[in-house]
Amino acid sequence: MNIVFLGSPGAGKGTQAVRLAEKENFSHISTGDIFRAELKNNTPLGMKAKEYIEKGELVPDELVVNMVATRLAELESNSGCLLDGFPRNLAQAKAMEGKIPTDMAIFIHVDEDEIIKRLSSRRTCKHCGNLQSADDGAVCKKCGGEVYQRDDDKEEVIMNRLDVYNEQTKPLIKYYEDKGILFTVNGARDVDEVYSDIVAAIKKND
Ligand code: AMP
Repeated sequence: MNIVFLGSPGAGKGTQAVRLAEKENFSHISTGDIFRAELKNNTPLGMKAKEYIEKGELVPDELVVNMVATRLAELESNSGCLLDGFPRNLAQAKAMEGKIPTDMAIFIHVDEDEIIKRLSSRRTCKHCGNLQSADDGAVCKKCGGEVYQRDDDKEEVIMNRLDVYNEQTKPLIKYYEDKGILFTVNGARDVDEVYSDIVAAIKKND
């Protein structure tokens, strides 16, 4: 089963996808994580993506679609794939059609006020990528690594990312709704509650 995670930055897509991948043996593809790794390693792809990521803009579709297609071709697991942060606009969704069938789109809904609060206090582990709040301290709760604030989680960039989300990514909600495969979950709750709703929906759909 292949599942697309939808929702604004900070809605909890990554947190839920990581957990689902660990517990239910899905492959997890996070385009944001892949770009950050490419950037850290100074690869040509990372260098091309850098200017867009720093401004909170979308990396050009061609680069993203090719990158995802390569990752999908490398996957060995056949239990399914979780796409987190992809597709991000209609062109990407259409480009993927035929390459990978989408069985379900899970939209994690959180109000914008809450999203701004979450993103501006979000900290990322330098070591394992775990996401937590600034209130959790300077050390990763999962692995003890050092945490930092991503440049694109700083206020100026957050607002641009939300504009990009509203203009380009939000229309995907209707796109998947029209296909009859959209499941909406209230993401403004405890992580465990959101997770159990998601698992129940997947089991029902299986
Ligand atoms: P994320 O961690 O998913 O919020 O992604 C961080 C940044 O990576 C985004 O703000 C974009 O600049 C870039 N990015 C991630 N996924 C995509 C995508 N599917 N299309 C275009 N750009 C993307």
